[in-house]
Amino acid sequence: CPEGSEDHTGYCLHEWYQEIALRRLGRAALMVAAANGPILGDRTHVAHPPVDAARHAAYAAEMARSIMAGESPYYLANTAFWLLAAEDGDPFAANRWYKPDGTPVLRETIQALADLPKRARTVPSVPATVSVLLEDGSTVTMELEDYVKGCVPRELPASSPMEALKAQAIAARTFAARAVRQPRHGATAVCTTSHCQNWSPKHSARSDKAVDETRGVVLTFGDELIGAYYFAHCDGHTRNSEEVWRAALPYCRSVPCICGNVKMYGHGVGMCQEGAIRMAQQGALAHEILTHYYRGVRVQRADGTPFTE
Ligand SMILES: [Zn+2]
Ligand SMILES: [Zn+2]
Repeated sequence: CPEGSEDHTGYCLHEWYQEIALRRLGRAALMVAAANGPILGDRTHVAHPPVDAARHAAYAAEMARSIMAGESPYYLANTAFWLLAAEDGDPFAANRWYKPDGTPVLRETIQALADLPKRARTVPSVPATVSVLLEDGSTVTMELEDYVKGCVPRELPASSPMEALKAQAIAARTFAARAVRQPRHGATAVCTTSHCQNWSPKHSARSDKAVDETRGVVLTFGDELIGAYYFAHCDGHTRNSEEVWRAALPYCRSVPCICGNVKMYGHGVGMCQEGAIRMAQQGALAHEILTHYYRGVRVQRADGTPFTE
């Protein structure tokens, strides 16, 4: 708020929103605030007569429904939690949905929201096959797990610690599974170079074991497969995706890294491969390595249960 301005109605709360957004997403979030919430139903405000409980309930339910159905832009959210978070004496406290003793104020609204159909969290399906553009220009379709077995030893030395190989296998599988939905070469998901992921038909026993032990395991954020980017090594910390590309990916945040290099090799976004090896040498498990480099993601098996190895 500008110096000397007044904030009786709490519009500066957007700064608090931004703090939460920065903490949770690692970036500022575009927000639309409507001035209906805090003063809706303020019985002392001349311009805002007591709330029409039925209309409030209908609007709240419609807003919640459209957000759940994905019909609203992601930055539009029902900000009613202002009221729940308000302190005693706060201008919002008089209009919150629950009185301090727990009795609901806007009963109709609370009931309308409680009556909305519940949406189960979906588990993104992992495709069984992936189309691959070979260097001679031909395209082959192969089993996803076989493809990953051709990637891992090209991306990390097969002599790397097993947990680093497993982390690499999960990242490579996730990258390819996402590319099946969003092909990177016309209708073909991936190529065999570092443009997508390095691949060759050569396998190794150790990297095959890493792929088998993580069979079907992928990285998700929200209900989506993540863009599981990785690179050779960083210079002590990885980069926010928007510093390198345009998109600000909430899970590709700058994080400190123990790889011990002073120069960056690669784009710097996502998992530092040397850092993954170093973490594994120090006893980190694959899921710990992955959640260090990809912030806030879930490492999950095909059935949606967490992978904690
Ligand atoms: Zn490619
Ligand atoms: Zn690093």
